[in-house]
Amino acid sequence: MKRKENRILIKFSGEALAGENSFGIDPKTLEYLADEIKSVVEYGYEVSIVIGGGNFIRGVSATKDGIIKRTSADYMGMLATVINAVAMQEALENYGLAVRVQSAIKMEEIAENFIVRRAVRHLEKGRVVIFAAGTGNPFFTTDTAGVLRASEICANVIIKATKVDGIYDKDPNKYPDAKLLKELSYEEALKDNIKVMDDTAIALAKENKLPIIVCNMFNKGNLLKILKNAPDAKFSIVKEK
Ligand code: UDP
Repeated sequence: MKRKENRILIKFSGEALAGENSFGIDPKTLEYLADEIKSVVEYGYEVSIVIGGGNFIRGVSATKDGIIKRTSADYMGMLATVINAVAMQEALENYGLAVRVQSAIKMEEIAENFIVRRAVRHLEKGRVVIFAAGTGNPFFTTDTAGVLRASEICANVIIKATKVDGIYDKDPNKYPDAKLLKELSYEEALKDNIKVMDDTAIALAKENKLPIIVCNMFNKGNLLKILKNAPDAKFSIVKEK
């Protein structure tokens, strides 16, 4: 299927919602993110979103003491993404946007079930669609869910919104001479030192030739600048070279 040029999927981690804290949802941060997303919708983009759940629980960490089994911990993590999705829905609606949450795990009182054709229809009508509950399967991440959903809805790109400007050759927090890499191939992104997404997510993006943009969501206006091809927009892109 052909990609829809003005259709994007934005993925950010649950931690992004926590603001200065590492746990829970910071209302001011939620509002800020919603405002950034609104500007992109108003510019004419069809926007879908995947939010992680790491501000509440991550499967791998929750199993560390051996009490909770991995599969249960992962389901708990998926539930956390639903909490974040509902919060983001509210924040976006406060800005007057129409929003639908679609969950990979059935919970009809809270969200629609994930149905790809329905999701596409919402997007065509200008509604923001938030995909919740990851892929619905344990042992995956929301990065993989993001790439999967972006591929399913024929998005033109997945934008991984982070707290740094893009992909660096080494950790910019440790090395002041770290260089921002503008363009990488999927093979380069799979290298051990480049932690842009987990390997499963990158492999799926590679297979579907889905470009991955990595950018800083906390640099106000940057997201829109990237989509407008502004010369001062900061980001890295992973794509077929
Ligand atoms: N998760 C899962 N399957 C999925 C997506 C997520 O089991 O398809 C679980 C997994 O335990 C993960 C947690 O949900 O640790 C939260 O997602 P993630 O770690 O990707 O969130 P982020 O780091 O982006 O906040």
